[in-house]
Parts: sequence; structure tokens; C-alpha cells
Amino acid sequence: MYDMSMLINGENVGAGGGATFERRNPLTGDVATRAPASTAKDAVRAVEAAHRAFPAWAALGPGERRTLLLKAAAALEQKAPAFAEAMADETGASGMWAGFNVHLAAGILVEAAALTTQIKGEVIPSDVPGSLAMGIRQPAGVVVGIAPWNAPVILGVRAIATPLACGNTVVLKGSELCPRTHRLIIESLQDAGLPAGVVNFVTNAPADAGMVVEAMVAHPAVRRVNFTGSTRVGKLIAQTCAKYLKPVVLELGGKAPFVVLDDADLDAAVNAAAFGAFANSGQICMSTERFVVDAAVADDFVAKLAAKAGALPVGDPRKGPVVLGSVIDMATVERCNALIDDAVAKGAKVLCGGRADSTLMAATLIDHVTPEMKIYREESFGPVKAVVRVNGVEEAIACANDNEYGLSSAVFGRDIARAFEVAKRIESGICHVNGPTVHDEAQMPFGGVKSSGIGRFGGLAGVNEFTDLRWITVQTTQRHYPF
Ligand code: NAD
Repeated sequence: MYDMSMLINGENVGAGGGATFERRNPLTGDVATRAPASTAKDAVRAVEAAHRAFPAWAALGPGERRTLLLKAAAALEQKAPAFAEAMADETGASGMWAGFNVHLAAGILVEAAALTTQIKGEVIPSDVPGSLAMGIRQPAGVVVGIAPWNAPVILGVRAIATPLACGNTVVLKGSELCPRTHRLIIESLQDAGLPAGVVNFVTNAPADAGMVVEAMVAHPAVRRVNFTGSTRVGKLIAQTCAKYLKPVVLELGGKAPFVVLDDADLDAAVNAAAFGAFANSGQICMSTERFVVDAAVADDFVAKLAAKAGALPVGDPRKGPVVLGSVIDMATVERCNALIDDAVAKGAKVLCGGRADSTLMAATLIDHVTPEMKIYREESFGPVKAVVRVNGVEEAIACANDNEYGLSSAVFGRDIARAFEVAKRIESGICHVNGPTVHDEAQMPFGGVKSSGIGRFGGLAGVNEFTDLRWITVQTTQRHYPF
């Protein structure tokens, strides 16, 4: 069991009053971590520390910020074994997923370091003689980042890296399900030598999340909020942000369609399908959730995919390498079982895997899914995937778009021009032609449409989110006034 603290103004602290909460291993139920259960007052202290640190951090030259972020990337990579252990303990994740998390998260810090010199403005022609008019990007102030457990290193780092690169100071609110994993990110930034107060970290008991978040959002020094998590909580946070008029970036749920056209390279499609559907047991916002397959190739595709998926190893990640570790909790198992039962009762066929009675869930494929079944629409966020058979391109596009979410998607077809036209018509923030739905790179504009969220992380899109664009003029000649 690991006892941990928060970080406020460069100091490791417990919660005021000393309250704590426990995170248990999802498979064994053993206590994995004990973390501070912050009060609203603690959260406000973290915001105030960030507020005090803001002027000096914002004034620091880009070169110094870049050096510190690069050091943080190296420090994070050095902690790879500790991240793998914490993730296996707290979330049941496989070693492969932990390694990918650390690698991409370090890349996000390197990209953020590069962005420090890319926070540019423009000179805009003015109709006023002698007026030099500029659009200038400046850091906004304190940024609150709220991250989930499922890709904990990537999403915890993403919540703060670009904001820091832009000259903001931050408070990261860790997930109740992986406080130690999120704490390791903060330790990496500390190891790099970021000044006290630039990065702060709070953790809260699950029941207190709303209270702690509102205490921070309400604080006048907080100028931006970002949240990655479910659409349900995203809407609550959007309401809190609306109440205090705080801009918010929301990266929410998904139900990614994977369209297989009649001319697809089926072997390539199957490899991408298995990876996109079952990496981290399907608990990725970009996870393939629906296979939308042309009936002409459906039997072949489904047979190949079921053979591959049915052979993927499942087990306790702490005992050796696996593809599917433990899912996050029994609630996931119950949700997935209910989706399977509902689909089977309405005529669907289970091709591999099936109901589970522990958090070790096998890769499960359900064929002949129709719109009446819950799994057609609802995010499983587990290793249970639907196959919907369609006739032709138009039906495929209509099916792909028949959903409230719109984060990632994929289209497989050998006629690239046709596949690209399909990609353009899919209602999602992200679409990969002949690639998996799970694909993230630090410099890409990442985000969704519809119920999948608002705003973009990644590259210059992130700079736009976490800076204020200001109009500043300098009058260089005598100005004419009407009176
Ligand atoms: P969740 O929404 O349950 O929890 C995430 C965070 O929300 C936690 O930090 C929690 O403290 C906070 N929270 C919970 N209740 C709150 C409240 N009332 N007010 C304020 N904050 C509150 O999400 P989860 O189950 O941990 O993550 C899974 C979901 O996240 C899935 O739907 C997945 O698709 C989505 N997700 C999206 C992305 C993306 O980039 N779009 C990435 C990963 C996960």
C-alpha cells in the first residue's frame, strides 16, 4: 500500500483535517493507494499558489520554459517502471499499455517544449493612419486540468503540458481511481525543477469531486478549465463553467465506428480492428466500438477478426505480459454483461468471449447487431464490440453517423479516393483511412464533435485554447480626432 500526498506551492501536503481515501486494486480488492481527500479550502489554496506563481512563470523566456519541459519529459521516462507498477496496482492496466502511456506522455511534454517558441501573433492592417495593430497571444492565467484513469499518464500530462508551455500555471485534479499514477507525473515535473506553485496537484474522495471542482472553477484566478472523461460528467462541468463564465475544453466519450468497405484489405483491417478494439481492454476514448461492415465481405472479416480476438491473452498484468489486463471495476463487467445479454436476447450472436464474472474480461465480438440493441448506441468502454452489417457505402455512412458521439473513426478500402470521401462524411473529430481508430500523436488536433466534446488539444490548436488573443495597437503618428 502506498501513502501519498498532494502538491501545493511546491510542498507535499495532506488534506486539511487529514482526511484520506483509498484506491483498491480492481482484481484483488487490496488497497493500492491511500491519498488525501482534499477539502474545498485545499483546492482554493492550490489555485492561489498557482496564481502567485503565474507572473514570474508567464514572464520567463520560452527557452527556459522549453528546457524545463524537456527535463520533465526525460524525468517522466525514467519513471517508466514506477508508472507500470502504479497503473497495474490502481487500474489493472497491462505493462504494454503503461509503456505506451509513458512514451506518448513524454512526447507530449517534448511537443509542449517545442510550442514555447510557436506562441505567435500577427500584425493586422489598420485603417487608422499610424496605428500598428497586432493580435497577440498571452497566457491566460491559472488553468485547472481534470484527468481520468484510463490513459492516465497521457491524459494527465495532456491536461497541463500545453497550458504550461503557453505560460500558464496549473492545478491538476487527479483521478480518484489512480491518484498515485497521476502523482508520478507531478513528481516528474518537480524533478525537472519547475518553480514552486507553477504545478499543483490535488486529490479528492470520489463523493467530493463536484465540490472540489466548483471551488476551483469559481475562483477568479482560474481562467481556463479542461476536462477529459465521460460525457455525463463533462456536461456537469460545462454547467459549472457556464455559471462562472469560464472557457472549458471538453474531451468526452466516444463510440468510434470502424467502416469496412467491400474492397478493404481484410488482413490489414483485421490487424487494425483488433488493436483499436482491444488495446487497454477497450477502455480508450478512441476505442473501436462498432464495426460497420459491408455485407459482401462481412463473413470473411468477422471470421478472421474472431479468430484473432479469441486468441488474445487475458490475465493479471502483475503476473506477466498480457494484452487484456483487468478492467477498471466490476461496474464495467456488469455494464458489459448487460450489453451482451440485451443483444443476445434481441437476436445477436456472440462470436468470441462473452459474459465475465471477474474483472478479467476476454475480447468479445457480437455479430448481427441492430439499432434496437443497446450496444448499437451505448459506449461499452470495455472489451465488448458490436458488428453491424450494412449494404453499400451510403448505408455504411448513415450507420457510422447514427450515434450521439463523434470522436474517432476509421474507414478501410483499397479505393483510397472513395474511402477518403467516406472519411469526409463521417461526423467525427478524427478519422483514419486504412488505420486504427486508436491513434494519438502530441502534435495533432485532437478532439471530438457532437457529444464527444468541445475544443482541441495538441499542437497549435492547444495554444489557441490556452492563451488569450489580444488586440493591441501602438499609435506611431499624431492621431486625428473629430472633436
Ligand atoms: P468520469 O467522467 O467518470 O470521471 C473523470 C473525472 O471526473 C474524475 O477526475 C472525477 O473526479 C471527475 N468527476 C466526477 N464527478 C464529477 C462531478 N460531479 N463534478 C466534477 N468532476 C467530477 O470518467 P471516467 O469513467 O473516469 O473515464 C471514462 C470516460 O472518459 C469514457 O466515457 C471515455 O470515453 C472518456 N474519455 C475521453 C477521452 C477524450 O480524449 N475524449 C479520453 C479518455 C477518456
